[in-house]
Amino acid sequence: MQIPNTADIVIIGGGVMGASAAYHLALRGAKNIILLEKEPYFGTGSTGRCAGGVRYQFATDVNIRLSQLSLPMIERFKDELGQEVNYKQCGYLFALNNENDISVFKKNVELQHKLGVMTEWLTGDEIRKRLPLMKFEDMLAGTFYQKDGIVDANSVVSGYISAAQRLGVKTLSGAEVIGITVSGDKVEEVQTTLGAIKTRMILNTAGPWAGQISAMAGVEIPITPIRRQMFTTNPLQEIPLDFPFVIDFSQSLYFHREADGLLIGMSNANETAGFDQSVDEDFELVNMEAALERLPLLAKASRAAHWAGLYEVTPDAHPIFGKTPVEGMVLCAGFSGHGFMHGPIAGKLMSEYILDGDFSSLDINMLDLARFAEDRLIKEYNVV
Ligand SMILES: Cc1cc2nc3c(=O)[nH]c(=O)nc-3n(C[C@H](O)[C@H](O)[C@H](O)COP(=O)(O)OP(=O)(O)OC[C@H]3O[C@@H](n4cnc5c(N)ncnc54)[C@H](O)[C@@H]3O)c2cc1C
Repeated sequence: MQIPNTADIVIIGGGVMGASAAYHLALRGAKNIILLEKEPYFGTGSTGRCAGGVRYQFATDVNIRLSQLSLPMIERFKDELGQEVNYKQCGYLFALNNENDISVFKKNVELQHKLGVMTEWLTGDEIRKRLPLMKFEDMLAGTFYQKDGIVDANSVVSGYISAAQRLGVKTLSGAEVIGITVSGDKVEEVQTTLGAIKTRMILNTAGPWAGQISAMAGVEIPITPIRRQMFTTNPLQEIPLDFPFVIDFSQSLYFHREADGLLIGMSNANETAGFDQSVDEDFELVNMEAALERLPLLAKASRAAHWAGLYEVTPDAHPIFGKTPVEGMVLCAGFSGHGFMHGPIAGKLMSEYILDGDFSSLDINMLDLARFAEDRLIKEYNVV
């Protein structure tokens, strides 16, 4: 494959962030853009391994506003890009079994209502009535928002990649970035396994690997890769078509419909940082036992598939957008396990930042890299 030796913009990482940014930059008329992905296919990093959940229910102003911009873009996706992405608005139902979580979620719902997200507050009995198959005797309260749901992540990536290609973006898979040359505090060249590209603008959308890419330019960023895993079951005809995305919040255990069965995951609180993406079979048993306790009909289920991927966690569980100390090296990474749903608007915001020097769709200047050094961390509670 012949690689161009210069580019106006080099995007590193072909997950949802890189694909969305490539499309939105090209849509605005930017030329000479190259998107580099180390794997043979786009979207096989975190994006292709995610649970596909999309929600408005967040605990901070900025996350709710990102959802309010991003989820309607997913609703319009087929009309705008010609690609079906299967947005199922089944709702997210957070089930809570302790007073501490209840008082935090009450504040979250207050904030959501203030911003126009009319989340429902449920009593324990209302949860049990909605979810008769679940053993939720200890649930005291919960929340539900109908427009939350699930979307096919692979379709979103392929929709953006195809549209970016139609608009002239050169998209290269099997192109691993192995070095970056900085000269006098400005980026100068990207070295890849297919050759070198001279450029003055690099967008780092390498997800859990974003720290490695930044380090090549001498920039340290606080993004930690943490393994998360899930499994799917064979078809279970008892699960109703309108079964929501159910989260047993205190155990960070979740269930949603996947084809005719379920997708089930749980966060391992003891997981250590690292790039290992193999399934931890011991923890899978812990997950299965917890799931069986909550949903006894799983006793007759069998596992259809399982996989692991990496969260890209920052110290305040919010993403990092914009400039770094090296001129021409910009960031869109660190979405801390809920980035798929914000990919559409994140790519658009980065196109504004790169082409106009500012974010115009939403003021996200507080999500800069400097906040970590300047002690301006943003606190988020509602992340599983
Ligand atoms: C198990 C799991 C469940 C999740 N569930 C949800 C969910 O329900 N909803 C939600 O919104 N989010 C969820 N997420 C989080 C979401 O997947 C991520 O926040 C999002 O996909 C990040 O997208 P990205 O484009 O930044 O990263 P990625 O998709 O990881 O893309 C980065 C790309 O960079 C490439 N790359 C890395 N190094 C190099 C290099 N040197 N050269 C070239 N390319 C390189 C990688 O191969 C990769 O394709 C989940 C994540 C996991 C792991």
